Amino acid sequence: CGIVGYVGRKEVVPVIIEGLRRLEYRGYDSAGIAIGGPESALLQVCRAPGKLQKLEDVLHDKPLKGTFGIGHTRWATHGRPTEENAHPHRDCTGRIVVVHNGIVENYLELKHELIGKGHKFVTETDTEIIAHLIEQIQKDAEAGDKPISLEDAVRQAVKHLTGAFALGILSSAEPDKIIAARLGPPVVIGVGEGEYFIASDVPGILHHTRNMYFMADGDMAILTPDGVTLTNFAGEPVKRELQRIQWDP
Ligand code: GLU
Repeated sequence: CGIVGYVGRKEVVPVIIEGLRRLEYRGYDSAGIAIGGPESALLQVCRAPGKLQKLEDVLHDKPLKGTFGIGHTRWATHGRPTEENAHPHRDCTGRIVVVHNGIVENYLELKHELIGKGHKFVTETDTEIIAHLIEQIQKDAEAGDKPISLEDAVRQAVKHLTGAFALGILSSAEPDKIIAARLGPPVVIGVGEGEYFIASDVPGILHHTRNMYFMADGDMAILTPDGVTLTNFAGEPVKRELQRIQWDP
């Protein structure tokens, strides 16, 4: 039910955990985080059912380091609040990682299609199909000798989804990049110096920056340490006004 993402130079785990803590008022039943950085070829994922403190305890025993990442607090709609069902969710290869607020209404239909193409699912969630769908789209593009970027694959993937979503997506094949997409649940983008944030709501990142873009329905954002690009789902640039938040939570 809460999303926080970060690209920049800071140690990413504390930024995300603190952000999720400030979004706790939204309610949740489990939490998780995915981190990428120079130390590991694949994104490192850590999840725990229950309170954020439980995730922190796991991270204390098995610290993760990195330069970009996303975190999530889940309010289960499809699948029990277990560790396996906690976000982030991954594709078959473990390269693509997704956090999601909302509901994919046609997930069963998509799941069956993807199972028919050889995908193996390990959770009961609606969200997991998004990672597999992106994987399949990139695989098809490669097979046709026209590999596509993560953002292009996400653009194609969201067209298949019905329901509501705020998404944060990473791929270990494209380090230091976060893709965000919105249809329904809110997403704000925080603009710092050489660092960018996403969050479900302003208080998750307000202690880092007061400069924010509010994503509109149908917007997609690409965040790297060099900047943020906003487009619609068709890939056309959109302009949102950079707002200065004057209030405190
Ligand atoms: N529908 C997803 C799930 O149950 C996301 C729930 C949420 O918004 O936290 O896993």
